[in-house]
Amino acid sequence: MIALYPPPDLAAELALEGGLPAEDLHVTVAYLGHADDVDAEALRSVVADLAERRPFTAKIAGLARFTGGEQDVLVALIDSPDLEDLRRGTLDALHERGIRVPRDHGYTAHLSLTYLDPDEPPPLDRLAPRNVPFTTLSAVHGTDRTDSRLEHPMEQPAREAFAAGWALSGGPMTERVRTACETAVDLAVENPDDPGTLKATIDLGRLEGMWALLFQRRNDLLADQTRQVRGTWLPLIDRISVAAAVDQLRAVLGVSEADRGRRDDIRAAAKAAARALLQAIAGLTGFGKLRSALRDVLAAGRAEGTVEAVAIAAERASRIGLDWEIAFRDAYRAMDNLDDLWASADGWLARTLDGAASELGSVLADGMEGGLTRDELIDAAMDVLTADDAAVAFTVDWAMTTAADEGALALYRAEGVLQIDIITAGDGRVCSACIDAEAGSPWHIGDQPRMPLHPNCRCCYSADVSLAHFANWLL
Ligand SMILES: [Zn+2]
Repeated sequence: MIALYPPPDLAAELALEGGLPAEDLHVTVAYLGHADDVDAEALRSVVADLAERRPFTAKIAGLARFTGGEQDVLVALIDSPDLEDLRRGTLDALHERGIRVPRDHGYTAHLSLTYLDPDEPPPLDRLAPRNVPFTTLSAVHGTDRTDSRLEHPMEQPAREAFAAGWALSGGPMTERVRTACETAVDLAVENPDDPGTLKATIDLGRLEGMWALLFQRRNDLLADQTRQVRGTWLPLIDRISVAAAVDQLRAVLGVSEADRGRRDDIRAAAKAAARALLQAIAGLTGFGKLRSALRDVLAAGRAEGTVEAVAIAAERASRIGLDWEIAFRDAYRAMDNLDDLWASADGWLARTLDGAASELGSVLADGMEGGLTRDELIDAAMDVLTADDAAVAFTVDWAMTTAADEGALALYRAEGVLQIDIITAGDGRVCSACIDAEAGSPWHIGDQPRMPLHPNCRCCYSADVSLAHFANWLL
């Protein structure tokens, strides 16, 4: 017979006590009758040819009890369009080699589990659905079994072509790149006779590598900018001022439990104290440095977004090689005279203070309700204001991503782009809004959703741009 054997661990789970042993569980693709009537060599060669297809995953779709023989057979039903294709291909191949297939039965894809006497109750009523991966095809002649690995002849070359393209891009290996590779291999296997297939696979690898590189650059820059902003933020947080705010709050609310009043009063008073503290921070001399640092974040984001947009356009036009240094120098220089960056920085500054005030307000309120001592309250307030993931870091991420998307959009508008795609980052942080935005591509420019669509969003715009204006950026 020609058969598929499930992976041993899965077979062990499926095997029933007193039924067929795990190592014998299989799905028959074609039963050829008695071994003496079939030439073993011919059978093995048919199977080797048939194995030139991709591995596939079938589904166990329930139980059935076959009747009509001396004993009944309890089987798992196997559902898979790939198995149907394989069965059809097998019959054709056998026919070509002159190997006869007995015609006593039709084909019902199944995996036999155990034999039962006609009046014997089944050992189980239901089999939960599950996937069964098949990676080999077996020629079974009598007791002799030969496995051939399922592998399409295009698979290995396609994988190598994708890897070569990815290597050319100089980008990192990420989950998105790995997934893209599998998709590219599928595509190549579906079009094995197209002479352009491998070239297209190389291009896909290069494009994915380029994306990965852009994401990495942006993440590195973001980490650096967050460090810089925190460096101007931390000196503004002073334990003495925080202690004064805590004392003020305790005086307002009364220190003893009985004086403290209703929960709403505590929340409102804590919120007011937090607001007052952050307003005072805005009056400190060091505040100008924070404002400058935020403006730099926005300039970096815009410059990054502009260069990314050109890099993406170059990649879409299959122009490889962008001189990052020249591109960024030009892009940053263009930011020097942008006054609207200061206005924008003030907006983000206000959001930073709002965010910090609301985080501090809830910590103070929780602390008062929880009966924390004065020192404990001060510690908790200091912690929330100086934490790595405090409002300030969150705002830097949001501000820079917004600026990058604005930078890209501004460049596309300046270049007269009409249609724009949205591409998800595919890094596990993608929300369904981003997937919908990607699926809705291409967008008429102006109608597309404004990125970022969620906190920590790394999805971005992509469009075709004439590269004539950026000739000096390209190698
Ligand atoms: Zn996103």
